[in-house]
Amino acid sequence: MTPDFEGKVVVVTGGTSGIGLATLERLLSGGASVAFCARNGDRVTKVCKDMAARFGESRVLGQVADVLDADAFSAFARAVDDRFRRCDALVNNAGQGRLSTFADTSDQDWRDEIELKIFSQINPIRSCEAMLRRSGGAIVVVNSLLAYQPEPHMVCTSAARAAVQSLVKSLSVEFAPEVRVNAILVGLVHSGQWERRFEQRTDKSQSREAFFAELAARKAIPLERLGRPEEAASAVAFLASDASSYITGAHLDVSGGLSRHI
Ligand code: NDP
Repeated sequence: MTPDFEGKVVVVTGGTSGIGLATLERLLSGGASVAFCARNGDRVTKVCKDMAARFGESRVLGQVADVLDADAFSAFARAVDDRFRRCDALVNNAGQGRLSTFADTSDQDWRDEIELKIFSQINPIRSCEAMLRRSGGAIVVVNSLLAYQPEPHMVCTSAARAAVQSLVKSLSVEFAPEVRVNAILVGLVHSGQWERRFEQRTDKSQSREAFFAELAARKAIPLERLGRPEEAASAVAFLASDASSYITGAHLDVSGGLSRHI
């Protein structure tokens, strides 16, 4: 692995599973120190231990924080500043999608979804902005293809994802030239949330392999499979690194060709 993050410090929200966990591994392999948060304390401790054993304790900081809790997140950001004294990139990855049509989405569901998608950006960005400006950093938002290609069965997630893209564009101007702001648009990546849907499948005799092959076929993904978390992590790493130093306000499609817009 090219040491493209040597001496850099990256904050990743939602680092204990899926794309966030793969991003930690990618960044640590590239020489970075990482700080990550998630809500489940046992999983934070486990990932901390695993990563410290592989890459060295001094390069890993894990803390329990819900991105929707502004105070908890700013305490996490203070811990990052105390330990590392810098933040070269912030990866806003924490979150999940909501399956619901317009008919079965309540007002509270709409409020919850908009709060999750917007404040999972606002709280980390507010807390890390000063460090990012000091280091001349980058923000990478893990967003969804739904932002541009809405799905009726994920009506409020699609709307909220589009709002996040609008925020990315606005911030890329307001934070320039010190901080670059970009997004990846994920199609279907095999991760914690898809494993949970596999566990909840109606036909329990269906194997994991058959479930995911059928899903890829049903969604008509041109590359004929779901993405791997490390494939999304590669795109995140590119946008967080100096390799993308003249890119801001942009998005990178990580959907195996599922995107239909031009
Ligand atoms: P996973 O469910 O595998 O991992 C989510 C991670 O985020 C976990 O570490 C989880 O830990 C953490 N997390 C969730 N909510 C919060 C919160 N409020 N505060 C802090 N941490 C939180 O998800 P994926 O890797 O699949 O998804 C990563 C991102 O990509 C998400 O934003 C998701 O919506 C988006 N995405 C994923 C797609 C896919 O196909 N996988 C498609 C489109 C978008 P804990 O639960 O302990 O907090």
